[in-house]
Amino acid sequence: MAADSVVVAGAGQAGADTAAALRAKGFTGRITLIGDEPGGPCDRPPLSKGYLTGAVAPEETVLRPPSFYAAQDIELMAGHRVASVDRDRHTVCLASGLRLPYGTLVLATGCRPRTLPVPGASLSGVLTLRGTADAEDLRLRLSGSPKRVVVVGAGFIGLEVAATARGLGHEVTVVEAQPRALARALTPVMAERVVTGHRDAGVRVLLGREVTALYGDGTGRVRVMELDGGERIAADLVVVGIGVVPNTDLALGAGLGVGDGIVVDSHLRTDDPDIYAIGDCARFPSPYAGRHIRLESVQNATDQARCVAAAICGEPAPYTAVPWFWSEQYGLRLQMAGLTAAPDETVTVGDVAGGRFSVLCFRGGLLIGAESLNRPADHGITRRLLAAGTGPSPEAAREPGFDLKTFARPPAPVRGRAPVQERQTTPV
Ligand SMILES: Cc1cc2nc3c(=O)[nH]c(=O)nc-3n(C[C@H](O)[C@H](O)[C@H](O)COP(=O)(O)OP(=O)(O)OC[C@H]3O[C@@H](n4cnc5c(N)ncnc54)[C@H](O)[C@@H]3O)c2cc1C
Repeated sequence: MAADSVVVAGAGQAGADTAAALRAKGFTGRITLIGDEPGGPCDRPPLSKGYLTGAVAPEETVLRPPSFYAAQDIELMAGHRVASVDRDRHTVCLASGLRLPYGTLVLATGCRPRTLPVPGASLSGVLTLRGTADAEDLRLRLSGSPKRVVVVGAGFIGLEVAATARGLGHEVTVVEAQPRALARALTPVMAERVVTGHRDAGVRVLLGREVTALYGDGTGRVRVMELDGGERIAADLVVVGIGVVPNTDLALGAGLGVGDGIVVDSHLRTDDPDIYAIGDCARFPSPYAGRHIRLESVQNATDQARCVAAAICGEPAPYTAVPWFWSEQYGLRLQMAGLTAAPDETVTVGDVAGGRFSVLCFRGGLLIGAESLNRPADHGITRRLLAAGTGPSPEAAREPGFDLKTFARPPAPVRGRAPVQERQTTPV
């Protein structure tokens, strides 16, 4: 066993940030970062946005240049798959047959897109989007003459692709099975505003409709989508954005606890004290949700990477970073702080029709988060308030002339939650 060696399985945002954070904290042991994507760790957010329009060049989606890993003495094994973990021998086995010892193993295996469970889902022109190869395929298909693009799923990725495709001049339809868009992620007020933006831009948004089948032409290319009730839509390209499945096979094979993600404790440790799990694949106890959750965001991947690197370096601390997320559609900047999906009360401040407003979310009278559209100051302030465990009451937020900045000054006394130290991650 090599007690001073760290193996990271999965070279995405969380894995690459773990390796970088370990060195930044002075870890001197061996670090091996193993990922099955040939191009190495990539920055995924542009893949549904600027990459498709050409505004972001392929080289700009590389998280760090190869020289970084060399300079930091991080062994990057891109294009290699970890096939199994032998906990007794403290080794990982790669698909190539190579075995590597670890002192600490970090599982950062991310997620894979859910596929459409309907006939015709494997026709050519039916795509999902996760990695650079998917994005390049989609970019090429969107680069020609106007096409009939149907996006399945009105979540963030689906709507970002819809906005980008519409911006490129394609005819776009969004089909969502739930009665509203972004149901898992946003309040109805904000979700409706986002959908209005799409409809104003000429996107047809069909809510509460299920895809039942896809049909192709003689060459195997998708041409028609059938919906419940028998309605048929012409489709030259179908982009499926109906959520993801966490990559838990390694953890399952190793006998670790799994259930919609690899289950970890507040220090992001699995059932095995020498194995951590972080990022999109990890199911962790969130002080903001009051239960175990999985978060699919750059912030979460980065902050969990830092938390685990600190623990490996002898500075263990529970993971308490404030969740935040952003999305861009038609130049609209949507930012979320905290977990806003299930408030029991909301207060909207600002100009909804003009597209500059925030929805403040409360549970039991406490601020639990805010969704902001083109109000970056509100977003920043909410993050600070949540980190300090404070915030306005719903009654105060409803007062005429209310401004969140009032609460941005010296931290007010804690209400009900221990203050947590917020860490800075990717600027938004
Ligand atoms: C198109 C798109 C747009 C997005 N936009 C935003 C955004 O605007 N804002 C935001 O906050 N987040 C966004 N996200 C989400 C964000 O990119 C993810 O939350 C983040 O990448 C998670 O990092 P991760 O390291 O956990 O997973 P990943 O980045 O997916 O990395 C996991 C890696 O592990 C590899 N792997 C899996 N199993 C194995 C194995 N057995 N052996 C070796 N390698 C393995 C995978 O192939 C992958 O490369 C977006 C995601 C996508 C796909």
